[in-house]
Amino acid sequence: MLAILHPDTPLDSDAYRQTLHFLEHLPGVTVKVHEVEGAVQRLTELYLLGDTKSLDKDEIEALPAVERVIRISDDYRILGRHRDDQRQSGFTYNGVEFSQNNLNLFAGLCAVDTQEHVEIMMRELSAQGQHCTRMGAYKPRTNPYSFQGHGKSCLPWVFETAGKHDIRVIAMEITHESHIEEIDECLEKLGRPTGVMLQVGTRNTQNFELLKAIGRQKTYPVLLKRGFGITLNESLNAAEYLASEGNANVVFCLRGMKTDAGSPHRNMVDFAHVPTVKRLTRMPVCIDPSHSVGSRDAAPDGIPDVMHATAQGVVAGANMVLVDFHPRPEKALVDGPQALLMEELPAYLEDVNQCHQLWKKRQEIYGKTGAMAST
Ligand code: PEP
Ligand code: MN
Repeated sequence: MLAILHPDTPLDSDAYRQTLHFLEHLPGVTVKVHEVEGAVQRLTELYLLGDTKSLDKDEIEALPAVERVIRISDDYRILGRHRDDQRQSGFTYNGVEFSQNNLNLFAGLCAVDTQEHVEIMMRELSAQGQHCTRMGAYKPRTNPYSFQGHGKSCLPWVFETAGKHDIRVIAMEITHESHIEEIDECLEKLGRPTGVMLQVGTRNTQNFELLKAIGRQKTYPVLLKRGFGITLNESLNAAEYLASEGNANVVFCLRGMKTDAGSPHRNMVDFAHVPTVKRLTRMPVCIDPSHSVGSRDAAPDGIPDVMHATAQGVVAGANMVLVDFHPRPEKALVDGPQALLMEELPAYLEDVNQCHQLWKKRQEIYGKTGAMAST
């Protein structure tokens, strides 16, 4: 439970002393004082930890120094949505805004293969007004004999090409903490022509040491993929690991759940959780329709399943789309069958944009436009 005190409550006031005295004597409850120094006022938050389920919210709200009380889930203290409007929602990185109200498209290669493909991809994206992409250099593969990604060796030309085409953010998975340094050193050496969003793959969602290492740095934001075989709560807790170590610039990515029940899709599409994650946390929510669906198969209406799945997520308010495209999918070294074709990019962008506009209109139907803008 979180008790937010009236702004600028003096810590030596009777009101504060009485409030703290009452709370500290609640059985099984520990009080942790958290000071938030804002630009115009100081805010004191009292986190009530431990046995708080039976506490009476009204009783605590009636204490002299308390402005309001919020029941917080112990699970996501920092990233959770606790109706605390002093807390920042979303972030800006390298000139690109990430929030629960806007949408960024990260179309690109599942895995970096050739310089030519990277060049074509970035040129086409740039021609379509895009500033973000996905590029896998370190690939976690099921089979140890499969292509593992070019790793460190491709970073210079990937980053330089990005800079040339004004691509500002590249979502790039890392599988080991040493990759952070490799990326950082390379970007620094090149004069930071682009930016990187560190991606934690579904196989590493609960690699706690990796999460802690990524959370300890604040240079790069993080795209955390949901674990494909664990509960949503467990994946959201994994995101909180990053925040608890100091990096709260996290986008949460839904990418489907591993179960035969999703067949013939590669995974069971879980985009009904887009609004759920936005309700439970303040993280922008990404969808990955490529790894969810896993093929270019189209429905009789002529629309590929990947695009249908994208539409479902975006109409529900997704804030980021991570999607595989490839200039020559038959030549792709990883996940060729699910990559969309470059000539499909303009239609895809149009579809995504229309779905995002529809999400905004849907908020008007329910009278909620702007309600989330203040949080
Ligand atoms: C990917 O995005 O390239 C990837 C491997 O995804 P996931 O971790 O969701 O399987
Ligand atoms: Mn892939």
